[in-house]
Amino acid sequence: MLLVSVVFLTACFFLVRASDQDPSPVLSPTYELTNATEENAHETDGATEASEEPPTAPAVNIQTEPGDNADTAAEPTDNAEENTKKVIYLTFDDGPSARTPEILNILDKYNVKATFFVVHTSEANREYTKSAYERGHVIGLHTYSHKYNVIYSSETAFYDDLRKISDEVFDCIGERIKIMRFAGGSSNTLWKKYASDGDLMNKLVKGVEEKGYAYFDWNAQSNDSAGGLQTVERLFKSAISSGEKGRTPINMLMHDEASKKLTVEALPKIIEFYQSMGYEFCTLSQDSPVFHHSVSK
Ligand SMILES: [Zn+2]
Repeated sequence: MLLVSVVFLTACFFLVRASDQDPSPVLSPTYELTNATEENAHETDGATEASEEPPTAPAVNIQTEPGDNADTAAEPTDNAEENTKKVIYLTFDDGPSARTPEILNILDKYNVKATFFVVHTSEANREYTKSAYERGHVIGLHTYSHKYNVIYSSETAFYDDLRKISDEVFDCIGERIKIMRFAGGSSNTLWKKYASDGDLMNKLVKGVEEKGYAYFDWNAQSNDSAGGLQTVERLFKSAISSGEKGRTPINMLMHDEASKKLTVEALPKIIEFYQSMGYEFCTLSQDSPVFHHSVSK
């Protein structure tokens, strides 16, 4: 009986392990995101949106494509080391916040640079944006209001919001930023609730690129905005799952908000893990690999 139980439990273990495996080949440029709840989780930061979240979202495909600089991206390389280089982009959305100084200190400690997709905030918090910029991090545009019912009501409303956060960041750091991340990601489904134009999201993803922006979704996350009981260990496990599979490049979604104490606590472990796995930490630019979700129809 004991032997039968051991065999049964061993079989279960391997079945569970098998189901953990990434269905995509490691080197495939297309990633299947089986846990597609990050879009919704991400949107819980907006005070007015939390109750409007659908309980689940369809799985999305994430593709990493060459950046805007097609010439550079298309160039073949003979450098094998270059081809196998593992790269991670840490990204923090929805800041700056009271947590920003803590995040910056951790990043400094590990000599790691990150990208902050910022929202409108108080003048005091804007000093943190300035500090992040001066310490070598990259500032990206997220949204001014983060109000889905406003920004996804029309193209005009969207670009008005984008211009406002662009102006605010320009006033803060003196640079016109051309990288951005859509509120809720380009795969968000809430736009359909507020837009009278049934093709709005498609128009926006094309439109921002025509205006010279590069937009970035993500293909990994710490799940720090997910509902339910959160622990440092859970955030850590979620954040390292892509690294355990050897994926590259990784664009990791995290949040910089006053409520995200666990993110700060998990961050050193996350960085240590990726450093131990040989990943290089990079910041996003218009020439970075593009992480695009599929637009929700
Ligand atoms: Zn956000």
